Amino acid sequence: MADLKVVVRTLTPIYTGGVDGTMDRIHETGILGSLRWWYEAIVRGLGGTACDPTTDGRCPDNEGNYCDVCAVFGATGLQRAFRVEGPNWWNEEPQAKLTVKMHRNRRHRGWHLGRGFMGQADLKFTPLRLPEGLTQEDLWQSLLLTWTLLAEWGGLGPKTQQGYGVVQAEFEGATLDVERALKAFDRLRNRTSRRQVRYNKHWPSLDGFFFAKVRFGLGEQEPQEWLLDQIQEPTPGRRKQEFEEELRWYFEPSNDRSPVLPLAPVIRYYLRGPIKQTKNNDQCVFSHNARHHLVGEQGRKSLIHVSHAYKIENNLWEFRIWGWIPESLPDGKDRSAVLQCLRQWLGTSQERNQERKWHQAQTDSGTLWHRLRMENVQVCWFDGQSYDNAKEYLGALLQDCEDKA
Ligand SMILES: [Zn+2]
Repeated sequence: MADLKVVVRTLTPIYTGGVDGTMDRIHETGILGSLRWWYEAIVRGLGGTACDPTTDGRCPDNEGNYCDVCAVFGATGLQRAFRVEGPNWWNEEPQAKLTVKMHRNRRHRGWHLGRGFMGQADLKFTPLRLPEGLTQEDLWQSLLLTWTLLAEWGGLGPKTQQGYGVVQAEFEGATLDVERALKAFDRLRNRTSRRQVRYNKHWPSLDGFFFAKVRFGLGEQEPQEWLLDQIQEPTPGRRKQEFEEELRWYFEPSNDRSPVLPLAPVIRYYLRGPIKQTKNNDQCVFSHNARHHLVGEQGRKSLIHVSHAYKIENNLWEFRIWGWIPESLPDGKDRSAVLQCLRQWLGTSQERNQERKWHQAQTDSGTLWHRLRMENVQVCWFDGQSYDNAKEYLGALLQDCEDKA
């Protein structure tokens, strides 16, 4: 049986964590965990079974059956359907950190961004066993679809909330065929699976995801200057030196990496705006608890992920904002209310015909672009609400954004 090679090229650094909160190297478990997380979201969206390995509902069930995800990724008593080798990526400067503080807020403690890994590497997938009813091609197709979705729209690794993990993925040994991949997920569902896993509204499912890509130029301004306009510049001395050195690392171009504009902290800072309690915009008033869910305050992981910007061509930058929004929040607000607020904030009109297309964002007050003093911004927005089912949604996502009409 043939191996599958996935060539991963980072657009923003990958960070998989390490033993002491710094990262010495890319840990395969971090990559696999992320791949599994996306696989679970796809399986749930397509109506299959996916247990949550972190709770009591883990596989196998009492009859010894496994859910669709464990059938591929393994669980107690069942090896993974494939083995992964590589990459051997080291972070040469595990202690290095970029500290970003917003200057409008003196008390702001700031974000400390570890470097992570930038570059290119191969991951080799070798088949070990086949889940019941699946061919080798089925297994690879289901993984190719997962890789393609996370590379096109999301990210890889555990810290995609904070700018990390935007990657490109190329395949050697197989090509994604969306129809075949969807059939593979059907076959997986038709196995002798465990009983339907009790539906848990806290488990991400593809139909509840939104994805946005944003493109902008900075005109005459250098990206470093733009960033320094947004944040608090460190006081001269060691801190400033460290800051400048880190910034150089982000912008350093080379053969296997493009420059990165580390703006995720700035976007996250402003994201609290539309999500926080405010009197003049009823529609986007969220309770404290709901806010903690969405933007991850008080130790919670944020549901909304924001990437750093990566350069796509001369003076054109792109970043992503995406996430899974639960059907309802603790304060009773529903998914569509949250998505509407996010769209307002991104200046992307409510009109349906602007979905799936690159279009000019509104930049009036109330939008993120007004805060960032950006004028020429293009947005492409996708959310599951416009589709009858996850299959259609996936199909549209994998065709990417259409150019402006
Ligand atoms: Zn399972």
